[in-house]
Amino acid sequence: MSDIPFYSPVSLNNVIALTDQLLEIAAVADASDLHLEPLSQSMRIRMRVDGLMQLLKSPFDQLPASAADAIVVRIKLLSEMDISESRRPQDGSFQWQLNDKWVDIRCSSLAGHWGEKLVLRLQWQQQNIDICQQGLSPQQLQIVNRQLSKPQGLILVTGPTGSGKTMFLYSCLKKIQAPHINIVSAEDPVEIALLGVHQVAVNNAINLSFSHILRALLRQDPDVIMLGELRDFDSADVALKAAQTGHLLLTSMHTSSISEAMHRCHGLGVDMLALSYCLSLIINQRLVRRLCNECKQPMTELQLAAMGSEEWCDAVATYEFCFGVVNPCLPVGCEACHGGFRGRLGVFDVMVMDQSKRDSVAQRQVQELEYGAGVRRQGLWRVLAGHTSTAEVNRVTW
Ligand SMILES: [Zn+2]
Repeated sequence: MSDIPFYSPVSLNNVIALTDQLLEIAAVADASDLHLEPLSQSMRIRMRVDGLMQLLKSPFDQLPASAADAIVVRIKLLSEMDISESRRPQDGSFQWQLNDKWVDIRCSSLAGHWGEKLVLRLQWQQQNIDICQQGLSPQQLQIVNRQLSKPQGLILVTGPTGSGKTMFLYSCLKKIQAPHINIVSAEDPVEIALLGVHQVAVNNAINLSFSHILRALLRQDPDVIMLGELRDFDSADVALKAAQTGHLLLTSMHTSSISEAMHRCHGLGVDMLALSYCLSLIINQRLVRRLCNECKQPMTELQLAAMGSEEWCDAVATYEFCFGVVNPCLPVGCEACHGGFRGRLGVFDVMVMDQSKRDSVAQRQVQELEYGAGVRRQGLWRVLAGHTSTAEVNRVTW
């Protein structure tokens, strides 16, 4: 592959300009991640936009090895990584400015067969973490707000990787935040710095685990505790004790359903009876891409008639009964969007614990916890409202 003419020969100025240009392309596209991936004689550049990977537009999709090596060094320097070390994985971070907006960039390196791959996570400082903007229905929002106003209990957010759990937890903390409430958090890592919340990051280098931090945080006179993720028995056990002793605890778990989360808790050795009494709310979440309002097209009668599955007809009937006329749309694609989609939308299944659900958890009959079709039903309602497509709902639910 030949060098890109306008960056040849590779000079320091060119490397700085090219790095800035790659970051700018990612920032303008609203990408969450930028991937710099070594191939045999070049480097492939991709980004993740609205949850899906895509190549950058030519000529930035593939850089010659000479330019790529220099860019990797430049980014590692910016991230305060050791540039003499290219075999062991490293983490670092830096801030970068586009116009008047700042973005926090977290960089991780991992050497593979063809060389060192860098993944940059872009986090805008003015990120929208308003709980009203997360995608909860008005009724769900009311339920969540009511639980957040209570002084104790355990709110568990479940969902697979990339389903927006962390952002949702942050939006809850932002909602609760007030001068008379002491909020603390244990996270791995701290993804967004929240003013008024004492956030502590897990640090394996000094043996600072979730459970260590949590024990220390309990001595810091907290009202509300956020634990990034329930991963092991230790952190689950301390979390449970915190929730039992008059704290409001918010946490998440990487599972695709509510019942799977309960199975996982049981597998970790958690006391299910104690858990059943602590849990106040379980939320299952997904993120779907939002149809672009500029170009989406309503489905025709013919297309609607083709959607004849029992699940679809059932969803239509319930939607019409609860909300009115359906308006499902299809993605088209225009200048303002990425293939007919722009931004993302949370789809939630919100379950308030009552006595019968507590009994199910305590007796480990967790399959009874999934009522209706859960998050999938909520997703289909979003399709019928014209907010997303069926393909999107199928992509994130199974
Ligand atoms: Zn569009």
